[in-house]
Amino acid sequence: MEDYPRTLSELEQRFASEASCLGYLERLRWPDGFACPRCGSKKGWLSARGLRTCADCGYQASAIAGTIFQGTRKPLVMWFRAIWCVTSQKTGASALGLQRVLGLRSYQTAWTWLHKLRRAMVRPGRDRLSGHVEVDESFMGALEEGHRGRGQTRKALIVVVAQEDGAGIGRIRMRRISDASAQSLHPFVADSVEPGSVVHTDGWVGYCGLEAQGYHHKVTPYRGDKKAASVLLPRVHRVVSLLKRWLIGTHQGAVSHEYLDYYLDEFTFRFNRRTSRSRGKLFYRLVQQAVAVPPASYRAMINDARGPKQNDHKV
Ligand SMILES: [Zn+2]
Repeated sequence: MEDYPRTLSELEQRFASEASCLGYLERLRWPDGFACPRCGSKKGWLSARGLRTCADCGYQASAIAGTIFQGTRKPLVMWFRAIWCVTSQKTGASALGLQRVLGLRSYQTAWTWLHKLRRAMVRPGRDRLSGHVEVDESFMGALEEGHRGRGQTRKALIVVVAQEDGAGIGRIRMRRISDASAQSLHPFVADSVEPGSVVHTDGWVGYCGLEAQGYHHKVTPYRGDKKAASVLLPRVHRVVSLLKRWLIGTHQGAVSHEYLDYYLDEFTFRFNRRTSRSRGKLFYRLVQQAVAVPPASYRAMINDARGPKQNDHKV
């Protein structure tokens, strides 16, 4: 049963207390009812502090332990507002925007929350794309989209797969890669696309050998015309241009490359749910995934990124 608020006022009425938020998280975390993580017993009671105590072994389990909400010093009510803010707007929220909406004193808190939520936007164990897909790489971070300069190092390189859906686009996956070698491209395809699918690429040598990995490899050689790429692999190029527009529009283009992966995850989450009629459903999905994803501290997120820069906080 997918149960979620449909409007801001519904959200505010329904999740006005910590107990109501906690109850919602519990139902999403233990959809079949509470089961003790240690002994599996289904018998337990809820303490005043929001802990489930196992009736058989005495183990105390919390609906937020081991999730992105673990250790938070802010009320869950505020987290629910943040998740609503992020999912109710088509283009999402910037850290500055979230800070203002929630009235947070610290920019760092808003920034950290958004990154925690972005981690929850990748569903653990999500399935791979199948059918006919297009794969291509693109440079990010320059004003001009540099398609062919595969040897460049100052811009970030990403690889994108877009599923064909008639003339349109189905679902997508994307990843930042260090270079356009087969060692970088093949693992991305393996992680993102079901074997047996038709993988359409240009004639770049980094895609050679996909047949041996169990894919049907359709190659359309690129003839050096700047416009050709968007005609040959139109879906990937459409996705890349939407991604760039989003990074410039919502985030003022101030995304440092170290954190680009998080933004790619958010863009993918939004794109793959773009036809969803209800924004409340995105809220539901994100809360559901937030209780399935392990916590990350601010420190861990900083350490995750390679070589932080001075302007990281301007995201
Ligand atoms: Zn137990």
